[in-house]
Amino acid sequence: MLAIIIFFLGHWYLSLTFQTLYLHRYASHGQFQLSLWQDRLMHLGNLIFQGSSYLTPRGYAIMHQAHHKYADQAKDPHAPGYYTNVLSMMISTAKTFISIVDGKHELNKEFVSFSRDWPLVEKIGTSWPYRIGMGAFYFFFYYYFAPNPWWFVLLPVHFIMGPVHGSIVNWCGHKYGHRNHDLGDKSTNFIGPDIFLMGELLQNNHHARCMSPKFSERWFEIDPGYGILVTFSALSKIFGKKFEIENPVPRRPLVPDLVQERPSA
Ligand SMILES: [Zn+2]
Ligand SMILES: [Zn+2]
Repeated sequence: MLAIIIFFLGHWYLSLTFQTLYLHRYASHGQFQLSLWQDRLMHLGNLIFQGSSYLTPRGYAIMHQAHHKYADQAKDPHAPGYYTNVLSMMISTAKTFISIVDGKHELNKEFVSFSRDWPLVEKIGTSWPYRIGMGAFYFFFYYYFAPNPWWFVLLPVHFIMGPVHGSIVNWCGHKYGHRNHDLGDKSTNFIGPDIFLMGELLQNNHHARCMSPKFSERWFEIDPGYGILVTFSALSKIFGKKFEIENPVPRRPLVPDLVQERPSA
């Protein structure tokens, strides 16, 4: 039983770490910079730990930037106000994402990613043999280590781990919790459950200052994702490598609407 619990929590948090740090804070917002090898390393981690539900950085960034620009409006790819339940929002989001990755969606003309493309890895990660192979790996782990068949109810979470995290954040982070900023959207800070989502549920703070890598603002708001970035930044100073989040290098805004900080209430 312990093996299954460790496997589930390990997959949950490793997949989430690469989603919040690499896909979200880096590829979608460019909140910090990575060298080529750092970018490649993070991309490989994203491939391995998102596994059967691997999401391409470019596709994620394009859809996410649209979410910020059109938050809770009709053109938002996943505004909870337009769906009766989280499942219907999840299915609609998946269709939009596939269309973006196929290059067929109009959002491709409007947004770009801060990450570097890696066509070979993206092709492998989005292929059916890879997705099915990783799914089979999860199944056989449960087959050998689950003490009884009831544990198999957790398997679907492994199959679609990335979209599960995304749906929880997009649904709860625009519906429940408190607001520090009176913005023109419905974003909220859902503390408590946020500890299981690495700071991602502090949506109201993040929508107010989307270029800041730190999502927490008040003493009772916790952002573990930022804690990891601070740790890496400190380590890079010790080892003489360049990774700086305190003073990001000013760059030409790729998406002007997204880099202007909105005033708080
Ligand atoms: Zn949001
Ligand atoms: Zn964001």
